[in-house]
Amino acid sequence: MKLLNKLYCYFWRGWENNCNVYLIDDGLRVLIDPGHRKFLSWLLRSMEADGFEPRDIDLVINTHSHPDHCEADIDFVDMARAKVTMHRIEEEYLRGEGSLLFKMMGLDPSQLTVHFHLAEELKLNDVRLLVIHTPGHTPGSVCFYWPEEEVLISGDLIFEGGVGRVDLPGGNGELLKKSIRKVSKLKIRYLLPGHGEMVAGREDVEENFRFVEKVYFDWL
Ligand SMILES: [Zn+2]
Repeated sequence: MKLLNKLYCYFWRGWENNCNVYLIDDGLRVLIDPGHRKFLSWLLRSMEADGFEPRDIDLVINTHSHPDHCEADIDFVDMARAKVTMHRIEEEYLRGEGSLLFKMMGLDPSQLTVHFHLAEELKLNDVRLLVIHTPGHTPGSVCFYWPEEEVLISGDLIFEGGVGRVDLPGGNGELLKKSIRKVSKLKIRYLLPGHGEMVAGREDVEENFRFVEKVYFDWL
C-alpha cells in the first residue's frame, strides 16, 4: 500500500512470524527488510498490486540481520541483481554469533551476500535517509530516518506498544534503552516498525515512546 509519495508499506498480518516490508521508489527502488523466503510470494503479490516487479528492486537495505528480516535478500540478488547492504557491525554479528539463529532454523547464513556497508547517510535521488545506529536488539541494528517526511523505520528497536527482544544472541537491554531514547528525540510523524502496526501522528508517536519507557524500561 502506498503511504506517502515514494513510500510503500507491506504490513505482515499472518500468524507465523515475518516482518513488515517497506519500499521507497525514488527512481532507485529500495526494499527495506524483505523478510523470510517462505513468505516471498506474499511480498511479490503485494508489490505487484502497486506496480512493482521483483526485477525493479535496485537495493535491499536491512535494519538488522535476523532471518525474519533479511533471509529473502538472497532472492532479490538472484531475481533483480540487487545490491544488499547493512551496518558493518551487523555483518560481523551475522558471520559470528548471529549465525546461530539461522542454524537453529535450519538455514544457511553463508548464502547471504552483503555488497557494501551502510554509511551514516544513504542518498537515493531526492530522498535522503539518515542511518542511525541503534544497538540493543542486535549489535549493528539501525533505524532509517527520512527527515523531510518525518518517517522513522525502526526495525526491531521499538514497535507500537512494545520493544525488540534482548534475550537473543547479541541482545543488550541497556543499549536498547539508550537507542530508544536517542530516536525519541527525532520529529516523527510515522513510526514504521519491523512488526505490528504503524504509529501515525506526532502525538501518538510521542505517546508510544512514553508508554514504552513506562512499561518496559524497568525490565530491560
Ligand atoms: Zn530481529
